[in-house]
Amino acid sequence: MIKDFAVVGSGIGGSSIAALLSSKGFDVILFEKEPYLGGCSSSFSRAGYNYNTGATTLAGYEDGHVVREIFDAIGVVPNLLESDPSIVIIHNENVTPRYRDFEKFFEILQLNYPHKKNRVFWELIYDINREFYRFSGHYYANSNIFSKVESLFSFLPIFLRFKKYLVANAHSFIKNFFADADDEYIAFLESQIFIVAQAPLREINFFTAALSLAYTFNKNYYVLGGFSTLFDDITQNVKELHRKSEIISISRHKNHFELYTKNGRYKAKKVILNSTVYDSGKLFNDIEIKNYYKRYKKLDNYQSSFMFYMTIKSEKNFHHHYQIIQEDTLPYTLSKALFVSFSDKNDTLIAPKGHYSITASIHTDSRLWENKSFYKARKKELEDILREIILKKLDIKEDEIVQSFGATSKTFYRYIRRSQLGGNAMTFKNFLPFLPGNDTSIKNLYNVGDTVFPAQGWPGVMLGVKNLKRLLDA
Ligand SMILES: Cc1cc2nc3c(=O)[nH]c(=O)nc-3n(C[C@H](O)[C@H](O)[C@H](O)COP(=O)(O)OP(=O)(O)OC[C@H]3O[C@@H](n4cnc5c(N)ncnc54)[C@H](O)[C@@H]3O)c2cc1C
Repeated sequence: MIKDFAVVGSGIGGSSIAALLSSKGFDVILFEKEPYLGGCSSSFSRAGYNYNTGATTLAGYEDGHVVREIFDAIGVVPNLLESDPSIVIIHNENVTPRYRDFEKFFEILQLNYPHKKNRVFWELIYDINREFYRFSGHYYANSNIFSKVESLFSFLPIFLRFKKYLVANAHSFIKNFFADADDEYIAFLESQIFIVAQAPLREINFFTAALSLAYTFNKNYYVLGGFSTLFDDITQNVKELHRKSEIISISRHKNHFELYTKNGRYKAKKVILNSTVYDSGKLFNDIEIKNYYKRYKKLDNYQSSFMFYMTIKSEKNFHHHYQIIQEDTLPYTLSKALFVSFSDKNDTLIAPKGHYSITASIHTDSRLWENKSFYKARKKELEDILREIILKKLDIKEDEIVQSFGATSKTFYRYIRRSQLGGNAMTFKNFLPFLPGNDTSIKNLYNVGDTVFPAQGWPGVMLGVKNLKRLLDA
């Protein structure tokens, strides 16, 4: 029996498009290599304790935002708790909660980083964010030059409105704006921008920087029970879901594709790949398809994450998320800043009563973890550094730790077949029209996820899902 669609991978992109197509009546088969769903946005168990794998926040589940629109279209109401403040930034002596309410946030910002131009700057950030989400109708097609050019015109209203910020380098813009801003303030801004834009200030435009700084003015949520439970809900109406089923090769035939797992062979008219655009070529022997994916190999910037997971037994109250900014870039990483997320005190689905599940991450370069002779020692050294920072900055005692362990880009590859994490950063080099799209030049072959249009995280990947749905005309 030939399926309408085969979807390879159950990340945000794969699960959402599989669910959307199923809700439209298509016969969909979804494959996931792992027993749990969600990829970078999943959760897992170790020695009886649960952890979120990578993503810990869900932004933009609100009216007028794409995350809400896709959940509504799938027919799922996620089990969420609002996080406000969305993050608490700990930077030297300053503690700055990023409250959603502008004035509440601004009052503390001005105390911690006083500057006479702060209000004008942050109002600009707030306004760019609010206005951007009012635009609709833009889409990106990339199956041939004509559809690509036509789709680029759909961005014209956005381009005309924000041109000044789209062409301005974020670092120069901020430096010129504040003129006398010190390095501490720049580090405060840059660290927050990095976790959303996935690139340093010098490589991105001010528009991207503004949207990154403003994400905490949107609604941010904590997912109850761990992220994989959300994927179980999203995919509940997908007719055929194969867990622990890695697709190892795909062959193209006249009117269909054949997908192979270790034990099975499946046929589908159309294939949607949620594997990274850098690695998808490996699945094919077909030269035309291999060459298509080869074109995008150069976009792999080797950026990845080092993870540190911990369960603690504590009666203290913690916020959901902290960003701890250090003086210097930490060894074997690309950043001064560590993002630390705690489970909600009352979320006993993820951690037992009186315990917290902690997921911490810092940017790294996957090439730093390739050499077997250094691997173990580096991993141990960085784990120790991160543990010490977290204990000290968040006032946790050594004897409150129940379990802790680290993970590298190699660990990610072993489990979810990707070591580059964070997807396509929105840099000057890496912007439309250079991004791979959700459609391809190969008939009936599509991509979805954070390595293709438009970018990473729940809002980015779900915008790609909406784009793909439009291209499929489904
Ligand atoms: C450390 C970290 C923290 C993050 N924090 C946040 C956050 O707080 N909020 C946020 O919005 N975003 C966050 N992100 C980004 C977000 O998690 C990702 O952008 C998003 O989850 C990527 O989704 P995706 O659709 O690209 O799929 P992926 O997550 O890449 O999942 C792809 C899936 O496909 C499966 N797969 C791959 N190849 C095959 C195959 N051949 N056969 C079968 N299955 C296959 C994999 O096992 C995987 O499950 C974070 C990312 C990381 C790494």
